[in-house]
Amino acid sequence: MKQKQQVSHNGSNKRFKPNQKYDKTLDYLNSWMEKKGITWKQSIIVRKDASGHSVFATRDLKEDEIVCTVPKTAILSRKTSPLRDIIDEEELAGGMALTLCLMYEMTLKKKSEWWPYLQSLPQVVDLPMYWDEQALTHLEGTCLDPSTIVEENALLLEDYQSIIKPLFRKHAIFNEGKYMNFESYRRAAGLVASRAFSVDDFHDLSMVPLCDIFNHKSGSENVHMECQAEVCLECGSEDHVEHDAPTHDEHVANVKSISMTTNSDIKCKSELFNVYEDLSNVDLLLKYGYAHENNPFDVVSIKPDVIHNAIHDKKWFDKNRWEYWLSIKNTKLEEEEEENEEEDDGDEEDEELHCEFNAEGKPNHTLLLLLCIMFAKKEQYASWKNVKKLIQHVKSQAVTKQMKEACVIMAKERLSIYKDSLDEDLEGLQDKHLPSRHKWSLIIKVCEKRILHKVVEE
Ligand SMILES: [Zn+2]
Repeated sequence: MKQKQQVSHNGSNKRFKPNQKYDKTLDYLNSWMEKKGITWKQSIIVRKDASGHSVFATRDLKEDEIVCTVPKTAILSRKTSPLRDIIDEEELAGGMALTLCLMYEMTLKKKSEWWPYLQSLPQVVDLPMYWDEQALTHLEGTCLDPSTIVEENALLLEDYQSIIKPLFRKHAIFNEGKYMNFESYRRAAGLVASRAFSVDDFHDLSMVPLCDIFNHKSGSENVHMECQAEVCLECGSEDHVEHDAPTHDEHVANVKSISMTTNSDIKCKSELFNVYEDLSNVDLLLKYGYAHENNPFDVVSIKPDVIHNAIHDKKWFDKNRWEYWLSIKNTKLEEEEEENEEEDDGDEEDEELHCEFNAEGKPNHTLLLLLCIMFAKKEQYASWKNVKKLIQHVKSQAVTKQMKEACVIMAKERLSIYKDSLDEDLEGLQDKHLPSRHKWSLIIKVCEKRILHKVVEE
């Protein structure tokens, strides 16, 4: 999946201009796409400007029109990559498998089957994973703790050193790829984070040419991707899920394609925006390298220790009840009674309860749970030794006046963590020459603080 910063902040379609400049990169991509069987309607056009590629309508489009089709054979995935046997043998999966495949192809340069596509990708998507220490300090106080980025980066390096690098000596195929190093791996990792799609059970995370050119803009989505996700795990066929060996070859032929379809009528000259998941600003920044000033899906998280600081000296605070709340695990709350707790003991330590206020300033389920526990009458609290009963109860619990007051106390405590005030941040944003990293950090802070002020003022 991908994102273009300028586009997402530019509400109008005034950027549309007739194609004045001959774009060699795009031309190269076009003929490659044709060769790969990727088809698109004459009614759409790909344009390139300083911020990258975007897709526009060249005539009015109707709802439910397929605007382009990409055969699954044209995508870059763990199954289409020349590394597929190594990936299987080494049991690599998900982002790591695709990052390795992408890095390999990029380092092959013109020898890569995907080169015309690869050379059309942005050099870098400026994700926080690439920010230096100085830039990361701007995020202090926000829900995106700079130390988590530093930790993630260290993990990426560790994976590279311990899992990826040893493969280069072990498998001869890697002799083909020049300049394979941590930097090229890191670049590939950022592209995978921001542009890859989860295609189906067989291909998993994949780079999908053309589909990844469509930008994203919350609230303006007008196209979506269509693709059968449930396929045979062994051959990728869409005709069956259970693989049947004798008819295998027939099945392989039935690997179909991915298409982009319009959600609504689209006016000529409008940009086409793909539907993406609803992400908070922090997640947008992590994945796409930008944030929205008016993001209806934004949230502010508040850590249990911050909540504790805020409420531990209140009359209604009860230590036993607090500990009971802490003992409830996120996994239980999500009601995914998956029985893999034993496998997951690595997660045990960071299984901190996820408390947050949403864009409307409303407490989430976990926070409401704490409030119910704290303010429940003795008999009612006693009946909640059965967590399921408690969770059921919370679903129908309205936020009482007492609970609201507790939320205000928590929100004020959370606000005290930031170094600057909302007004100072807003003033900072006025600077037209603000470096983008600083700008995104300020937008994140402004949005988080607005949510917290909402909690306090309501
Ligand atoms: Zn099969």
